[in-house]
Amino acid sequence: MESEELINYLRRYYQEGITRPWEFRWTALQTLETLITENIVAICSALYADLQKPKQEAFISEIAIVLEEIRLAKKNLKKWMKPQKVGSPMALMPSRSRIYYEPLGTVLIIGPWNYPFQLAIAPLVGAIAAGNCAVIKPSELTRNTSKLISELFKKYFPTDYICVVEGGIPETTSLLAQKFDHIFFTGSTPVGRIVMQAAAKNLTPVTLELGGKSPVVVCEDADLALAARRIVWGKFYNAGQTCVAPDYLYVQSSVSHILIEKIKACIVQQFGANPKSSESLSRIVNSQNCKRLTQMIDDKKVIHGGEFDFEALFIAPTVMQNISWNDPVMLEEIFGPILPILTFETIDEAFYSILQRPKPLAAYLFTRSHAIQKTFIDSISFGGGCINDVVLHLSNPYLPFGGVGDSGMGQYHGRSSFQTFSHAKSVMHRFGLFDVSARYAPYSEGKLKFLRRMFRL
Ligand code: NAD
Repeated sequence: MESEELINYLRRYYQEGITRPWEFRWTALQTLETLITENIVAICSALYADLQKPKQEAFISEIAIVLEEIRLAKKNLKKWMKPQKVGSPMALMPSRSRIYYEPLGTVLIIGPWNYPFQLAIAPLVGAIAAGNCAVIKPSELTRNTSKLISELFKKYFPTDYICVVEGGIPETTSLLAQKFDHIFFTGSTPVGRIVMQAAAKNLTPVTLELGGKSPVVVCEDADLALAARRIVWGKFYNAGQTCVAPDYLYVQSSVSHILIEKIKACIVQQFGANPKSSESLSRIVNSQNCKRLTQMIDDKKVIHGGEFDFEALFIAPTVMQNISWNDPVMLEEIFGPILPILTFETIDEAFYSILQRPKPLAAYLFTRSHAIQKTFIDSISFGGGCINDVVLHLSNPYLPFGGVGDSGMGQYHGRSSFQTFSHAKSVMHRFGLFDVSARYAPYSEGKLKFLRRMFRL
């Protein structure tokens, strides 16, 4: 079906008003939950076929996280949909002001390949909760998951309510030429620019969930054993193909040697001496990305790992030291199992260097000092992050998730998802009483004097 015809089907479905009532939205969320719970094995298998994703990672970061979103939305939907009462200034009395959350209409969700199930479906939770129809375009690079998503939605939902379009650049370009009421894009910053340009032609609002180079800063007073354990987990989860993974480690030079030894030990603890045989390490999505990543590895600077096998799409957890800001590994988002290490002398120097770079999607800080934590939060702009941990902020549905600057715009998760896919319609209810004549023409000095007194001018 042509994109235009498809959107017209969805638009008609939306215009019938079926998706608006609370009962419909709640039931659709319930159906989505059933779609997932009845197909956990198939979802895990597709993710394994695409990325050799370990079952534990698939279960937690692709399935459980989406189920949590659905359950939270079901529980709070009535509250979120309720018109919100707000105050009115004295001069506008008597009146009642309300914000009504209405659905946007027909929305487009474009997903990436790294968490191909979660990142196509989690935004949909918000789209459904807010009463929209949706087109989902999963990543073509994880084709088993994309095919499964398409089959499952055909089975569980009417295709003129939620429709899955499979394909790559030509199919996405064709979809982007249509007039949607919102486009929710997760992917790289360069493609984010393409999406925003296409959306601008139709004045379609966008949410852009992009990437970037997320630093993890470790100070000399930090619990180094804990920092090493958590950094290794967050960096090599999904073989480093995580948008909020620590991209590079920035450690105070006085403790860099101790931390490096602990990181090396943690890698062996978590993935064994021969990580190729580890069942806890995903593979790289394709040979093109393998090649891109291995070009970042500088053998002279590797202090752990560095092995790769193109055919098996395998790259060992790799650590590089003596890295400068101009090394190839620091010039673009890594998005793979390579951890470059830079050092700093003073925390002011570290924060200054981070501030010179594009605003990251995430930033992490390990320190016991409340003063340093405060300076970090107050002075560095980043999408979201953790103090004394990595990645986990993303899994709290009460925290809005999204980037800032080059790492994106807009937020989702929990209530933020509902708000992203809703229009906040402001309405003032007025009454016939006290109809102040001073507002009406013909204007006069007396009326102006009265109004100035009212507005304390
Ligand atoms: P990508 O930008 O290459 O692709 C994302 C989607 O856009 C895919 O569905 C793809 O088919 C489509 N696409 C690709 N090129 C296109 C084009 N020229 N025109 C129209 N559509 C196009 O991203 P990716 O490689 O799938 O994912 C990796 C990137 O996504 C990384 O930069 C990562 O940081 C980012 N990411 C961000 C988040 C987040 O939540 N902020 C989450 C995951 C990944």
